[in-house]
This record gives sequence, structure tokens and C-alpha cells, in this order.
Amino acid sequence: MITIQGKGVSTGVAAGPLYFYQRAKGTLRRYEVEDREAEFARFKAAQAKAMEQLGVLAEKAREEAGDEAAMLFETHQMMCEDMDYEEAIEGFIRESGINAEAAVTDAGAAQAEAFAAMEDDYFKARAADVKDISTRIVGILMGVVQGGIDSEVPVILAADDLAPSETVQLDKSKILGFVTSGGSGSSHTAILARTMGIPAIIGVGDQLKPEYEGREVIVDGGTGSVVVDADDDTRERLMKKRTELLHRQQLLNQLRGQPNVSRDGQEVRIYCNIGNPEDVHAVLENDGGGIGLFRSEFLYLNCDDYPTEDYQFEAYKKVLSDMGGKEVVIRTLDIGADKMIGYFNLPHEENPALGNRALRICLNRPEIFRTQLRALYRASAYGRLSIMFPMVTSVWEVKEAKKLCEQVKAELAEEGIPFSEEVDVGIMIETPAAAVVSDRLAKVVDFFSIGTNDLTQYTLACDRQNNDLGRFFNAHHPAVLRLIKMVAENAHKEGIWCGICGELGADLDLTETFLSIGIDELSVSPRSVLPLRQKVRDTEVAAVREKLVDDLMSDRNTI
Ligand code: PEP
Ligand code: MG
Repeated sequence: MITIQGKGVSTGVAAGPLYFYQRAKGTLRRYEVEDREAEFARFKAAQAKAMEQLGVLAEKAREEAGDEAAMLFETHQMMCEDMDYEEAIEGFIRESGINAEAAVTDAGAAQAEAFAAMEDDYFKARAADVKDISTRIVGILMGVVQGGIDSEVPVILAADDLAPSETVQLDKSKILGFVTSGGSGSSHTAILARTMGIPAIIGVGDQLKPEYEGREVIVDGGTGSVVVDADDDTRERLMKKRTELLHRQQLLNQLRGQPNVSRDGQEVRIYCNIGNPEDVHAVLENDGGGIGLFRSEFLYLNCDDYPTEDYQFEAYKKVLSDMGGKEVVIRTLDIGADKMIGYFNLPHEENPALGNRALRICLNRPEIFRTQLRALYRASAYGRLSIMFPMVTSVWEVKEAKKLCEQVKAELAEEGIPFSEEVDVGIMIETPAAAVVSDRLAKVVDFFSIGTNDLTQYTLACDRQNNDLGRFFNAHHPAVLRLIKMVAENAHKEGIWCGICGELGADLDLTETFLSIGIDELSVSPRSVLPLRQKVRDTEVAAVREKLVDDLMSDRNTI
């Protein structure tokens, strides 16, 4: 038995054969062929297979994220059959007599170089597409399975980490759990695992050896352990834990459809945080009351260039219509700091967390912001949309952003494009400045949602990305809790609602505190909805209100 320790980022226990995610790499062999005709036919067969795979991917993307998302793969199909590309490959095979793998690689590299040298940004970005297509065809020629999982049975998937475009392609019914050598709790794999409700362990480094492939592993996403070839006692213990967790989930399922009301009648809305349109399934499955935070940067991270208005419109529209009239709070672009995107060409900064990020970028580059706002307002005709701005520090920023909203609405009205007049506009409170001037901010917005991840980082001057600062990053610090209380009070004085969408919202040790200070909405990962509902229903707020509020002002939490 071999036990490997990583960091659990999505709870649950699962057992299954270990399977390493397949990428089309391997060593490319370059050789001269005898039968050039047969070699060209081998290329044509691989090209046809690539077209077929891309067709399947386009359909899958269409189902999950709409027509615009499918277009990426349809463009790849067109490029795969492009005459110039094919003729270059044919030339290498027929005239130089080299094998198909080498011919595709060389032709792809030459075409990518030509695209990269072009002036136009759109064509520049196509260089990555040509490389992607060539990698796919070479993978087929070399017999490497594309799309990750070539197994009849579901597996525990091991990888270094997965790119967003790779996660789109995974057959999710084949995955029992994830183990990655790198990654972080906010990596795409971790977010995907939490949303799918399957265990995930990250950061196992090189402890997971290729020779473990196919052997049975048991992963425990709660403790972060990965056991290869478990002995009988360990297997029995972990399987018992698995049964208990499943049983607990069944009990929680009975809470579906029940209200989030405390024993003494205080109600709180429990919404969900999502990262992409597919996640709506998990929201509905877990009975989330709405979406309190759609991190729209997913759309930008998933593209090689600025996503167009139509592309964004399709994605927002899909989420709004799939939510069937329930409230959906979409946060405008929040990049910079930990979420960098190459094509934004942001200059290097000494302190990116304090730099040009989120709303600051949007106000400095209004053309990008306007595209997103137009897409959002257009989508508002298909459901109940609220728009939220991140990283606010001052009232003037909000006023400037709202002015752009008004301009966009006026434009749409003039163009005769429908949109809803009922869109609420709110802000995230995630800087101490915003919390301190929340009395003023409350006068200019419709709601607040407290981003406790950043609020903790900025209040405690403690980098949320730095794992070595673990014990200093204390979201229970009274400084953070007092700010939350102050923000809620200022919101209520102006008659607007106040929610929490940072990770702290799902912290069951604080549910009573949040109810006692009158938080109106908690937005959490879909899987946290039912445990949180259970906790709310078990709480008697009046009985603990005074004590809890007193505690916030004292040093109950180590200062
Ligand atoms: C937060 O800062 O608490 C938040 C919800 O936003 P993000 O984690 O995306 O920065
Ligand atoms: Mg934040």
C-alpha cells in the first residue's frame, strides 16, 4: 500500500483505477517513407478523424455554452481542411518524402509563424489555432487519444493540471475523482470538481508515479490522501466513510425545496457561485435559489482573444434562460492580480493585487467594458439579471461605471434591441475602503455583496495566494467581521440588501453570526447549499444574537 498526501480541494471519497490524462505529446519521430502515396492517405485518414472529433466537440460546446462557443471548434474544422495547409503537408510528404507526423508538424509550424507575423490581432491569434489542429492530427497519427480518457470504466483522473479548454473536452461521466500534481484550490480542475461534486486532491507533486496507472486508488478529498493498492483495513475504513458521506448527502437531499428559515423564522437567501454556463446544472441540482456570483472572467480566460459581444451575449443568455427567472448576479470582468490574460497585454506590475485590475481596467479601457455591458443588457431580456462591479474603492468609480450602463442602454434603445429596465446594479465590497465608505456607496447602488476573499486579503494585508501565510490569513479576524457588520448596517439603513459571496459565506461556524447581523443572502458553491440550509434551519438566531454581536466587538477571535 502506498499513501500519498496532497491537498483536498473537493470533498468526498472515491475508488477506481488510476488513469493519467492523455496529451498528444510523446516523441515525434521523423523518417523517410517508402510509399509516399500510402503516407498521404494516412494523413487524409487522420485529418478525417480530426474533423469528426471537432464536430463532436462543437456540438458539445453548443449544448453547454451556446452557438458562439461552438464556433471555436467549427473554425478549427475549417482550418483543418484549409487548402494551403493541406497542400503544404502534401508537398512535404510527396516531394520531400517525410512521414505524415513530421509533415503536419512542419506545415503547422510554418503556418503558425506566418499568422503570428501578421499585423491584425485577429489573425495573430490564429497561430495558436493552427498549432492546436496540428497537435490534434499528429496525436491521431501517433495513436494518442485526444480528449483525455480512453477507458470503458470510470476512473480517477491524474494530470499535472488541466487547462480550461481541456476540461471542456472531458467526458465527465468517466471521472470519479481528480488528482493533480500541481494546481491550486482555485485552479480550473478544483472548481470543476467542486461543481461536479466529486473528490479532488491537488499538489501531490511527483509522488504519483506513471507505473501506478491502472492500479486501484482511493482518494479522500476531505483529508487530501491518495491510497494506491489499499490494504484491507484502510479500504474498509475509507469505504465506510464513503457510505457515511453518501448517506449524509441523501439526508441533505430531503432538504431540497425547503425554505432557508431559522427556527425562529429568520430567512436568508442561499444562492450559488458559478464560473461558467455549464455550472447552472449544479445550481439547479442543489436547489440554489439563484446565482449570487457569476465570475464572468471565465469567458475571457477561455478565449485566445477578446470575446465578442455576441459570444458573451450567448453565454449570459444561456445562464439567464436556464435559471428560469431566478435572480442571476453577473460580475463584470475581474482580471488582473491572480487572473492574468495574455491578450490584455497588461504591463508587469510590482504589486498586481494593488494594481490595474477588475473595475480599474474596465474604467481605463471603456471599449472592453462597453462590449461586456452591451452583451449583459442584451441578455437581460431573457431572465432576471443583476450586474455587479468588483474591486470598488470609491463612489466616483461606481458613478462612472453606471454612466456607461446608461449610455449602453440608450444605444440599445436607439438600435431597437430589447433589454430589461429592471436590471439591478450592485457592487462587491472587497476593499476596506469600500467597507468604510459603504454608507455613501449604499446611496448609489441596489445591493452589496461582500467578497470576503479579497476583503480579508486587503484588511489583513495578507496575500491570499501565498500558502505560507496560512495562519495569518484569518478570515475570522474581528477586523473582517466588524467590517462585515458595518457594511450590512449601512446597506440596511439605505434599504438595500447585503450578501456575502466570498468563501466565508459557506463557513458553518459563522452562519449564526451572519444571521444575527442580518445578512440577506449567502452565495456559495452549489454543493454547499444544502449543508448551509441545514445549518440555518438548526439555528435560533434571537437566542444568540446579542452574544454573537458582542463577540464581534471583543477578542473572542485571537487578535
Ligand atoms: C472575493 O474576493 O471574495 C470574491 C468572491 O471574488 P474572487 O474570489 O473572484 O476574487
Ligand atoms: Mg474578489
